[in-house]
Amino acid sequence: MGLIAIDLDGTLINNQHQISTENINAIKQAQAHGHTVVIGTGRAYFDVQEIFKKTHLSLYIIGANGATVHSPSGTSILSVPMPDEDSERIANWLEANNIYYEVFCEHAIYTLDSSKDILFQEVKDLEHHVSKEEFQFINMHLKKQLSQSGYAFMNSFGEIFQAQEKIYNILAYSFINQKRLAGVNAFKDEKDLTLVTSSPFNFELEHKEASKGNALKYLAKVLNLDLDQSLAIGDSENDISMFKVVSNSFAMDNASEDVKKHAKYITSSNDENGVAKAIYQFITD
Ligand code: CA
Repeated sequence: MGLIAIDLDGTLINNQHQISTENINAIKQAQAHGHTVVIGTGRAYFDVQEIFKKTHLSLYIIGANGATVHSPSGTSILSVPMPDEDSERIANWLEANNIYYEVFCEHAIYTLDSSKDILFQEVKDLEHHVSKEEFQFINMHLKKQLSQSGYAFMNSFGEIFQAQEKIYNILAYSFINQKRLAGVNAFKDEKDLTLVTSSPFNFELEHKEASKGNALKYLAKVLNLDLDQSLAIGDSENDISMFKVVSNSFAMDNASEDVKKHAKYITSSNDENGVAKAIYQFITD
């Protein structure tokens, strides 16, 4: 028996921001077959708890792109925070470059009171420069980004660091390609950090040892489960590290070509219960 690791956004969650009954039933079936199901997401642990509150599923949770792992009962199994000096330097840079960012900590997602205005202004500026479809796509992503649970709003950047919580990752977000690419270029070669993306408009920085794949490896070791009998399902660049450590990987049909290239199989999209289909294929093989 192995692990079944499932990404959330664009994978288990459909475009209506819901988890379908089909997908929930497939998870229950996999568990009934003796598999251990783990959610692997960039979202914060407390945000994921909120999402699953009504489902009564018992799940391991890899959060913050692998910087945290929690057991179904909420015990912390792994915690890989960023070095403080790195976080402060990154936040300073993003601040100076007028890029919206969120700081993911143990108990909250910190962001500045004023900084949402950066995103609203970007969207306003883009309205007459993109197609109607593109503008809808942008608004859908904006809504999704700001609907996480566990936000804590601060007045100044210093307050975030005075809170002295462990910082797991910093998520930078911009609808303006040049701004985002400048950020990626500024941090992509940092030797102590990992940079991943989980949506078309973000990049996230974390400890170099933190990744969904490393967290999955760690969990398999702790639970004494075989990665050669495990499955990972995802749609984004931050899922590739999971694909690399398991024997069976499925990319969603809505994934980019690059992500699909790294997966062994392709399943249906997140709007067509792709997770359920992948799980049933895996457990009946
Ligand atoms: Ca995803």
